[in-house]
Amino acid sequence: MRAALAKVDVARLGERIEELGAIGRTADGGVTRLGLSPEEDAAKTLVARWLQARGGRITRDPAANLIAGFGSGDRAIVIASHLDSVPNGGKYDGHLGVLCAVELIEAATAAGVALPRLDIIGWTDEEGARFGVGLFGSAAAYGRLPEGVVARRDRDGVSIADALRALGHDGDPAAARRRGTDRLYLELHIEQGPNLERAKRPLGVVRTIVGITHLRVTVEGAAGHAGTTPMEGRRDALVAAAEMVLALDDAARRRGGTVATVGEISAEPGAKNVIPGRVIFTVDVRSPDDDGRRAVVSVLEDAKRDAVQRRGVRVDFDTLADLPAVELDKGIRGALGEALREVGVEPLELVSGAGHDAQNPALAGVPTGMLFIRSTNGSHNPREHATAEDAALATKALILSIARLN
Ligand SMILES: [Zn+2]
Repeated sequence: MRAALAKVDVARLGERIEELGAIGRTADGGVTRLGLSPEEDAAKTLVARWLQARGGRITRDPAANLIAGFGSGDRAIVIASHLDSVPNGGKYDGHLGVLCAVELIEAATAAGVALPRLDIIGWTDEEGARFGVGLFGSAAAYGRLPEGVVARRDRDGVSIADALRALGHDGDPAAARRRGTDRLYLELHIEQGPNLERAKRPLGVVRTIVGITHLRVTVEGAAGHAGTTPMEGRRDALVAAAEMVLALDDAARRRGGTVATVGEISAEPGAKNVIPGRVIFTVDVRSPDDDGRRAVVSVLEDAKRDAVQRRGVRVDFDTLADLPAVELDKGIRGALGEALREVGVEPLELVSGAGHDAQNPALAGVPTGMLFIRSTNGSHNPREHATAEDAALATKALILSIARLN
């Protein structure tokens, strides 16, 4: 594998960042490539073309994941990331991990090295921006799809099953399950946070991925005339929701290391002279510490009971995700750290505040490791940025990691 190091081509990586980033490009230079959309499919087709040209055995599994197999052997080293984006997101989130894997194959081919069995995977719909369910492709592959998920619909009423069918997948996405085929799983991803930039290091090793709870909360009150309904006896869904939002924020502030966000809220019927009869809001709670996350969610449950009693509303929680924090494999972290030293980077272990596909193999018992690549200007926006030089260095670290782990 080491012979491949000299063939890593930073210019090729830079060109491919632009070529892939052009699929779903928005007016201000961002990318909109939602899960199971024609744009996501086109991104998979482009990556498949590059990998097929280097001898990859290309398949699309029943969850529409792109898989390119190389080398031989019973069990595979999986190198994967995702090819979808949020609306008007950046061209590095997810995509750069796939591009580094493609570059590894290019470099290994150019150097004429024999590959161990590798499966390069481009996951479907990691972001969950369209159907509300993130990590879709990797959840299908590792037996962790939520019950009844294919019936979930996007804003236009298109279900996941419809969207899969439109792309030629008629079967059950759960049949994408990878059963005992994986030796280990590696994912490269931009950090999407400031720690590597602050530490002036191009790469870092992920120690823990935070646990995440996602809820959709529906508060049912009673709509009424804003002028003629006395304050006593009102069942104002928005006031009840506001109390719950503040209780959640307060709980997260008290519990260090846990963050909580209400990012979407809607009030119906939505007129200035009508008491809101129904409010729907989302909740996102994350922590590297599962007890901390559960404690914050339980405060929200207390606030729900208060709202029911004091405001006369009905409150329903729909759990969209409930993933524990994941500590990644110690042996792989050690190998990644040694690989970083070899490319001249003192390893730094990081907590990932973002969820990643790597959670699913890790929770399914596959030894899993993750490298972060320095990124600037945040993420999930068109200004998100990482350099081709850092991506090339990450590819070299990936080559050295595989040499160590194989
Ligand atoms: Zn991502």
